[in-house]
Amino acid sequence: MTEFESFVPYRLRALMDEDRTPHAIALECADKNALKRCAELIALRVLCKSDKDKPCGECSACIKISGGNHPDVYTAKSEGKRNTVKISEIRAICADSVYKPNESDCKIYIIPEADKMEPSPQNAFLKLIEEPPQPMLFILLCENVLGLLQTVRSRCAVFRLSGDDSDGIEICAAAENIALSVCKSREAELMYACAALNDRQQSLKILKRLGEIVREAVSCGITGKAQDCGAAVKELSLKVGKRGLLKMQESILNARRHIDRNVNMTLVSTVLSENLWNDKYL
Ligand SMILES: [Zn+2]
Repeated sequence: MTEFESFVPYRLRALMDEDRTPHAIALECADKNALKRCAELIALRVLCKSDKDKPCGECSACIKISGGNHPDVYTAKSEGKRNTVKISEIRAICADSVYKPNESDCKIYIIPEADKMEPSPQNAFLKLIEEPPQPMLFILLCENVLGLLQTVRSRCAVFRLSGDDSDGIEICAAAENIALSVCKSREAELMYACAALNDRQQSLKILKRLGEIVREAVSCGITGKAQDCGAAVKELSLKVGKRGLLKMQESILNARRHIDRNVNMTLVSTVLSENLWNDKYL
């Protein structure tokens, strides 16, 4: 797993891979250094000039960002007793935002401790994210996204940094594969996909991720915002109704319980496969 994969939440990576990076991203984590590094990795991924394996870490853009001197990546300065970003700084960013990027296609603004900003700078910032004068990316770093004004929050794609290794690429791939197989027309494909559940510890992580995918599909169905989701979430939200999805969550939870109770893994995977297949018709 690369550093990019371990820091940047899976769902955001999926969007970036599909060229659908949201223009305003709110990252939530208690660890400020993790937030900073994640923002930097996102900037690297967006501005990297390599054709593949972005961020490459070697191109001129990657080197400048890592050195903290890329002209199109700006981190807002905080000041004062509470060490927060003040309205004067947001105004300066708004003024700067009208100028074209220096050497890339997109300007990136990183706002540290965005959730600690007073309402007035948040409101000034809101206008900018509502009507950016050109393609730009805003990354808001938050200890708790609820500190953002609701109006600001609703315009951001919110991602939580998990800090555990549940985002491992194999785990995500296996979970996605199961979710996508549920949507297919042959039950055998789902059985093959569920056969990935063989190692107990690994399976618990796969099922945790699968549960997240299903949960995201439920909220996609409610908000109708399927375009902001990864492929598996999108498919599920289109092909399975809300009742089916809720039942699937139950089936996944049951499978996790069976694993905790040391039930034979072949049985766990067979039962889950059958249950998910039946759930989708609800
Ligand atoms: Zn690069």
